[in-house]
Amino acid sequence: MPKANPRHPNFPIPGGPELRAKGWRQEALLRLLENVLSVGEDPDNLIVYAALGKAARNWPAHRAIVKALTEMDEDQTLIIQSGKPVGLLKTHAKAPLVIMANCNIVGQWAKAEVFYELQRKGLICWGGLTAGAWQYIGSQGVIQGTYEIFMRIAERRFGGDLSGRFVLTAGLGGMGGAQPLAGRMAGAAILCVDIDAERAKKRRDIGYLQEIAPDLDTALSMIDAAVKEKRALSVGLVGNAAEIYPEIARRGIVPDVVTDQTSAHDLVYGYVPKGMTIDQVKSLRDDGQGQLMAASRASIVEHVTAMLNFQKKGAEVFDNGNLIRTQARDGGVANAFDIPIFTEAYLRPLFARAIGPFRWMALSGEESDIARIDDLLLDMFPDNRIVTNWIRLAREHIPFEGLPARIAWLGHGERTALARRVNELVASGELKGPVAFSRDHLDAGAMAHPNIMTERMKDGSDAIADWPLLDAMLLCSSMADLVVIHSGGGGYAGYMTSCGVTVVADGTPDADERLDHALTNDTSLGVIRYADAGYDESFEEIAAKGIGHLRLD
Ligand code: NAD
Repeated sequence: MPKANPRHPNFPIPGGPELRAKGWRQEALLRLLENVLSVGEDPDNLIVYAALGKAARNWPAHRAIVKALTEMDEDQTLIIQSGKPVGLLKTHAKAPLVIMANCNIVGQWAKAEVFYELQRKGLICWGGLTAGAWQYIGSQGVIQGTYEIFMRIAERRFGGDLSGRFVLTAGLGGMGGAQPLAGRMAGAAILCVDIDAERAKKRRDIGYLQEIAPDLDTALSMIDAAVKEKRALSVGLVGNAAEIYPEIARRGIVPDVVTDQTSAHDLVYGYVPKGMTIDQVKSLRDDGQGQLMAASRASIVEHVTAMLNFQKKGAEVFDNGNLIRTQARDGGVANAFDIPIFTEAYLRPLFARAIGPFRWMALSGEESDIARIDDLLLDMFPDNRIVTNWIRLAREHIPFEGLPARIAWLGHGERTALARRVNELVASGELKGPVAFSRDHLDAGAMAHPNIMTERMKDGSDAIADWPLLDAMLLCSSMADLVVIHSGGGGYAGYMTSCGVTVVADGTPDADERLDHALTNDTSLGVIRYADAGYDESFEEIAAKGIGHLRLD
């Protein structure tokens, strides 16, 4: 039975043993589509997260997708172009059930203005990374990544944890909403600024944010007290980051760590310029787009200038993947890229081994299935400190949103071993239903994004998008259930290309074969991509795990 969803009553959380589709594979993808809307930011408009990240192009497209998933046979493939189903073709039972291409615009045309125009005409939609691919699991999806970044900073600069440290950030949206909880898990006193009171309230209601301060003075004194007592605390503040960051700097306060996760990638539907209310922004979106873009960029210039000032005074400052430096540079901040990107600064050694955010969702809707898989992870990987630490913390701190789900950073071999073991538990009835596996698009072989994932690659291959395209083709050849290619990033055009994959463990021998091939080949390509760029860790991984890498003489 689906569960009531108090946040969005018209979008119940799927679950239960009954199938509406002809098989569990189809049913699984249907549930994942329902799930991204049940946990999304604005499901009435099909918006899941990242400003305009949508689950389907429009409601007629959504209805047609639901109908196709419900009626299709296992030997058919549903083809989706930017959130609209365009074909249901006969393939074979080992082919993907769904293939998608979302928001891919030809190079010279890939500009924000072209995207907004195509969107207005109803010809395209932005899928974010996990929205259009029906993989979003709420703020949990990004939380381990944010936590691991904080912990790398803690290890390098602050003796192992962030207790007694002040972290300043902004953005409490779908992804940014993970920051207060990740900060608290790392021991910090974290202040999160958001212009939208509703977003702050929502994060507090779902347990990701502890307090909302009525004004900056109160917020800073709450943070100050927590820092002195070395007490972990998350505080939200409703305000514009382009005003609050410079004001904190003006007061001579230097946080220990500074970042930002406003929707700075989108100057029209995402970032809110200072001095404007959200309603004023909305009224300019159609007719005053140029004015809005200029105002957003001007505010981002102030926002990033304050971040650079904090950096000069010794704060650890980083870009958390929202393209804010790029927007600032385009607005004239010549040294915006003095701020490092989180991938290169903290996580690349993990990606070079194809260790990245792997996730699973209990399609039964039962939290006990995730708890059983948590136990399994602790049993299977007792020596993997990142995993064991994370699972213990996640169990204690992370509330479920929508379908119970978990994310954990696992690498080559580990993902496959876990998923195949889970498939056995589905088969034996130890789990209450099938489990869907996917991973973030921000994964070793899966993304080319020269301002985020692939910035400053060792061999200069930052902008080469062959890798995610190869990954998608490889995953289709490896029997994955859903394979998707996305492009977009800043202004939804021209900044990145990525590939997503979902494989369903329904307890059958076929599922075992799919999981084995798809997950193993996906991480193999990830390691190969980094080996090709010259990373030593990748060569070690290839040697240790016998990955089929070809090297020229
Ligand atoms: P979202 O649109 O759901 O939320 C953005 C939030 O920023 C909103 O709550 C909005 O009110 C707030 N905001 C906008 N302008 C502001 C301003 N000037 N001052 C204060 N608050 C402001 O977006 P999201 O899903 O949370 O994603 C945020 C950004 O992070 C996006 O650019 C997205 O592309 C990026 N992102 C990064 C990663 C990563 O791996 N690091 C992952 C996902 C998303």
